[in-house]
Amino acid sequence: MPLRSDWSTATCPIARSADVLADPWVLLILREMFSGRTRFDQLRDATGAADSVLARRLASMTDAGLVAQDDPGYRLTDAGRETLPILHAYARFSRMIDPDGPWGLTVSCARCGEVAASSDWCARCSAPLDADSTRWARRSMGGEPFALTTGSAA
Ligand SMILES: [Zn+2]
Repeated sequence: MPLRSDWSTATCPIARSADVLADPWVLLILREMFSGRTRFDQLRDATGAADSVLARRLASMTDAGLVAQDDPGYRLTDAGRETLPILHAYARFSRMIDPDGPWGLTVSCARCGEVAASSDWCARCSAPLDADSTRWARRSMGGEPFALTTGSAA
């Protein structure tokens, strides 16, 4: 029995995207892949997912075209790379629902260094905040800014 409804044929684009993305494990796997963790063991250790949970999510993400296998791990496809502003929006939204909560992710523009005030564009230099022009600083990874990655060969 499926865990939830199937929205893969919905006419609403939000519902169709939710069918692929509205799973916390999927979002955490994407977060870790952009952070350079692309092998199964790295993704398991960083997300805390059980092997079976991670294997199912990676299979569904592969079927949905978000990731592809790329020895020795996985890489983000073009569609997977397009999820970056969604992750940024999630991070920004956490400030709305928990303004005093821990802030473990800082997003900045790689071109000018501005801390992002938007999910997808730099307010200072107007560069897109895509995987090639964005830096993250994660408290859980030492807090220093790093370039994003999109594949196991990177
Ligand atoms: Zn900038």
